Amino acid sequence: MNAGLIVDCYIGLGSNQAEPLQQLNMAREKIAALRATRLLQSSSIYQSEAFTLDDEPQNDYLNAVLKVQTQLSAIQLLDALQQLENEQGRIREKRWGARTLDLDILLYGDQKINVPRLTVPHIEMQNRNFVLLPLQEISPQIKISGNVAIQQLIENNRNQVLQKVKEFNGTA
Ligand code: AMP
Repeated sequence: MNAGLIVDCYIGLGSNQAEPLQQLNMAREKIAALRATRLLQSSSIYQSEAFTLDDEPQNDYLNAVLKVQTQLSAIQLLDALQQLENEQGRIREKRWGARTLDLDILLYGDQKINVPRLTVPHIEMQNRNFVLLPLQEISPQIKISGNVAIQQLIENNRNQVLQKVKEFNGTA
């Protein structure tokens, strides 16, 4: 990477369609290959039941978190991630509907960003243990909005059940 502003950033990955494990592995490789970006850490992969707004059954989700260092601006990173979502054929039919690949910027350094396309820290992250548990695995000391310890946030969502199922590349 060239000299310049380098930011530690956390990215959330999720999939419940079209071979979710392959979707996550492919996305991780492509994120590691993004320009001006370096992959630092990967969580394990976690499995959980889908949240749904209606009674339609959905496949379980696989989720993980990556830590990267990047010289991309937050909007450049969002553009790059949305391009990857599109390349992997994300189905964007309805809110909380089934999706091939969902990529979220969870944290971008310690910046607070609030523009029409981007809210960072991610607005829902503190309510989702499928984000908080993998994040805690790679950065146990991290504090999120309001300087709250991640363990406390996880306990607030203790009714959400999920299991660590695999490592990246599919090993159990
Ligand atoms: P979703 O369907 O929940 O993945 O939302 C996608 C939309 O959220 C996109 O239009 C993004 O511009 C917007 N968005 C806002 N904040 C973020 C964020 N922190 N990471 C990714 N997308 C975001």
